[in-house]
Amino acid sequence: DAKHHGKNTYRFFCRSTALASLRNLEIKDDLHKAIDHNELQLAYQPQICARSGRLVGCEALLRWHHPDKGWIPPDVFIPVAEQSGLILPLGRWVILEVCQQIKAWQDQGKIVPRVSVNVSFVQLLREDMPRLLQDCLTQQHLPPSSLTIEVTESSIMQGEVAIARLRKIRDTGVRIALDDFGTGYSSLSALKGLPIDELKIDKSFVTDLNQGSDGKAIMSAVIAMAKQLNLAVVAEGVENEFELAYLQQKGVDIIQGYYFSKPLLKAAFTAYLSQHSEFRLLATDC
Ligand code: C2E
Ligand code: MG
Ligand code: MG
Ligand code: MG
Repeated sequence: DAKHHGKNTYRFFCRSTALASLRNLEIKDDLHKAIDHNELQLAYQPQICARSGRLVGCEALLRWHHPDKGWIPPDVFIPVAEQSGLILPLGRWVILEVCQQIKAWQDQGKIVPRVSVNVSFVQLLREDMPRLLQDCLTQQHLPPSSLTIEVTESSIMQGEVAIARLRKIRDTGVRIALDDFGTGYSSLSALKGLPIDELKIDKSFVTDLNQGSDGKAIMSAVIAMAKQLNLAVVAEGVENEFELAYLQQKGVDIIQGYYFSKPLLKAAFTAYLSQHSEFRLLATDC
């Protein structure tokens, strides 16, 4: 009966949350050491211009190789990092590393026009965030247009402080992308006037294109409205030719997904850049 069932559910819930918080504690302790022990790496996923087929940049994605547990996915450790404040040193490391990497590629004659970096709302709320970005760029003699920061809808919904911070960052010339668009609650009209350059349509909408006419209708409407707002449109999680063709036809600007490449660790991405030498030209049409 319902009562009996409810009890079981409660017990199960308690045990699993206790386990989860224990695991989070472990992760938090280990994450603390991860930076110093060089356990963090960045993977880079190419972003391709839908019109010219050229590489216009890449997204940097954090990877953690735990000495005993192996690879731990960011969906597991990023929330722990946010709750514990560890996201601040972690996020700083990411920005520093990305700027050094862009410079290193440049020195090897490999031009990556810009790199997208995911930034948590915890970082965004920090007053020194615009300064941190500026300092890392200047250290490597890079123009601010080398960096795009990706923020989620929920970051923007943190309120006026977050929006003011984004505006300040954007005023320095760093681009702003709204990540995972469509998974939150904001409508496109709510984005009017926000300091955003780029809209990344969430993977779930791309996947829905394979499900028939509703998915296509929604995608088509989102792209049209984003263009109306003068936003560059990026589709993430593009996996097959059918999705690519549809998105190209609807005028999406940039494509990212397994169809072109999975995120690649530094050495593999550097090799990718050499193999796709036609991508080395700076794309001006995206
Ligand atoms: P995200 O920023 O939306 O990144 C896109 C995710 O989709 C990545 O997962 C990427 O590997 C995956 N992906 C890309 N193309 C495809 C595809 O065609 N098919 C499928 N199935 N997946 C695809 P990943 O690397 O596991 O990262 C998960 C999330 O963790 C990111 O989502 C981002 O929110 C967060 N994250 C990663 N690195 C950082 C970081 O440095 N800082 C912060 N704050 N968050 C990060
Ligand atoms: Mg992202
Ligand atoms: Mg995303
Ligand atoms: Mg995501």
